[in-house]
Amino acid sequence: MIPRRLHMENISTMTENLGRCSSVLITGASRGLGLQMVKDLVKRKERPKRIIATARNPATAEELQEITRSFPGVHVVALDVVSEPSIHSASEEVASIVGTEGLNCLINNAAINVSTDLQTVTAEAMMKAFESNAVAPLSVTKAFLPHLRAAAGQNTGMGVHRAAVINISSILGSIQLNWGDGAQFKSYAYRTSKSALNMVTRCLATDLEAEGILCLALHPGWVRTDMGGPQAPLSPEESISSLLSVISSLTEKDHGGYLDYSGNKLPW
Ligand code: NDP
Repeated sequence: MIPRRLHMENISTMTENLGRCSSVLITGASRGLGLQMVKDLVKRKERPKRIIATARNPATAEELQEITRSFPGVHVVALDVVSEPSIHSASEEVASIVGTEGLNCLINNAAINVSTDLQTVTAEAMMKAFESNAVAPLSVTKAFLPHLRAAAGQNTGMGVHRAAVINISSILGSIQLNWGDGAQFKSYAYRTSKSALNMVTRCLATDLEAEGILCLALHPGWVRTDMGGPQAPLSPEESISSLLSVISSLTEKDHGGYLDYSGNKLPW
């Protein structure tokens, strides 16, 4: 599937950007969309040299382990995004994998869904969702900044060929769209945590712009994963092939933005 905003003349740039990205790191790659990103990337002709797939418990991530046995350049690193010691040791391990080339693309994908309407929402549910979905991506980004900066210092322009932080958000984080038909999915904890992630993205975009590190919030669509459920319209394959094409084509025009998997702008 080719994203709507991508025209035929952009395809060579798209491929080129993927080919020029020497390393990508994905959080929450044990299953769902994170795992599908790894599966898609390893099969691409033009692919990042190093694909760092992180999981909080690599030993039980069997599909991921199988991929590392079948494809070169895939590194599985333990990372629990809500644990500071785990983030710290993952960052050290990544330093030894990427070396002086640094890290080109960090994809903050790991998240939890705490489904809570007005009746069932608790302070604990709010804090749990906020910790995993908004605080953790910020903590992970801070810890990996030295690697992103190392990569940013070796190139020009903006995009995954240089350095980028991609925060996997959700359309459910849009405050403007939480009205009328868009307000049917009730979840105080999940929705507010993704709105907070959007603001984290904008704050990072402001702070990292001068260093050439692109920051973006991306909605993957409603997808059939454990989180999305069986009634979702998109397969993980459809969502991720489109999402990765959008990621490949990012330029300075997209910095600080909030896009969906087809590359369309979403209202904050
Ligand atoms: P899943 O629930 O299927 O998978 C979630 C992934 O996140 C798992 O790999 C899980 O690991 C990991 N994870 C959760 N907490 C942690 C943690 N503390 N440390 C490390 N990893 C963790 O979700 P999806 O794949 O569907 O969602 C991926 C992203 O896309 C999320 O950010 C989600 O909010 C977003 N999204 C998804 C939509 C959908 O329809 N599916 C719609 C809109 C947005 P483990 O196996 O160890 O539990």
